[in-house]
Amino acid sequence: KLYNMVQDLKGNIRVFCRIRPAFCAGTRNVIDFIGEDGSLVISDPLKPKKDGRKVFQFNRVFGPSATQDDVFNDTQPLIRSVMDGYNVCIFAYGQTGSGKTYTMSGPSGGSTKDLGINYLALNDLFEISNQRKDIISYEIQVQMVEIYNEQIRDLLSEDSSSTKLEIRSCSNDNGLSLPDATLHTVKSTSDVLNLMKYGEVNRVVCSTAINNRSSRSHSILTVHVHGKYTSGNMLRSCLHLVDLAGSERVDKSEVTGDRLKEAQHINKSLSCLGDVVTALAQKNSHIPYRNSKLTLLLQDSLGGHAKTLMFAHVSPEEDSFGETLSTLKFARRVS
Ligand code: ADP
Ligand code: MG
Repeated sequence: KLYNMVQDLKGNIRVFCRIRPAFCAGTRNVIDFIGEDGSLVISDPLKPKKDGRKVFQFNRVFGPSATQDDVFNDTQPLIRSVMDGYNVCIFAYGQTGSGKTYTMSGPSGGSTKDLGINYLALNDLFEISNQRKDIISYEIQVQMVEIYNEQIRDLLSEDSSSTKLEIRSCSNDNGLSLPDATLHTVKSTSDVLNLMKYGEVNRVVCSTAINNRSSRSHSILTVHVHGKYTSGNMLRSCLHLVDLAGSERVDKSEVTGDRLKEAQHINKSLSCLGDVVTALAQKNSHIPYRNSKLTLLLQDSLGGHAKTLMFAHVSPEEDSFGETLSTLKFARRVS
């Protein structure tokens, strides 16, 4: 039985790749081919075609014309399983500008069109809650935090400079790993939109001191689901929706001070995440959760019966080729 459970682990990690549309029509596109089966071929702009081609295989690849609904449709079964008691974790990985925030939240500029997974997921959870109301009554609560330089900050707190949060062992009464982070009960998509806006503003307010901090912090929207069946049974699960810090490597010779410290923290936490997911995929007995705040916080939703989905985001332009290749390699390692 245990053996079967361990065998199942790999089946619980999925990797989707998403390629954003090119910004300017003139530049060369490094994406050669996108297959229905999740295959992707890229070509190195500095090498002759036949030498520079590289093939990758993922569970699914979304090309530049894929809509938010296309992406959500393939993500929906995973999200719905939260309502059956599974813990789920969805990550957006990729260099800054590759479309992570677009996938998770929506277009930049706060448009309410083309909203992303965060919104569509909650919308769907409310719908299920309504459909099942005769057999189970659900309570849906959200928390929103950011991890910056290995410190966790509450994005829903009224005091935007609020204290650093500590991760607790989940064995406490309410099962929350961040018991001190503001917890809001949400009942409708407009509640969610308001909170998301609030969180974004909070994030921006604190980023004025350090330019464009949002690309250098991980933002985590956690949805806690608590269900009570009419039979009296209870269900508890959570969904983590994570917009990771940009994965681009900074040139160590060019940055110093705070910028270098940020870069080192990001490198470390992203590589820890890679190590954890790889260890899970390889069914290792030791999973190195404790090596970063990010993996420690998400521990309950990575491994075991939990389901994990990583979106590897890539930019199609030729000047991003190096970062694109490194994102695809990272994603291949965990898939
Ligand atoms: P990241 O969060 O990875 O830094 P963004 O999500 O901010 O990247 O994307 C960079 C820009 O490209 C934004 O203006 C965003 O709205 C736009 N963009 C990203 N992906 C898409 C897409 N699939 N379709 C249309 N616009 C996109
Ligand atoms: Mg972003």
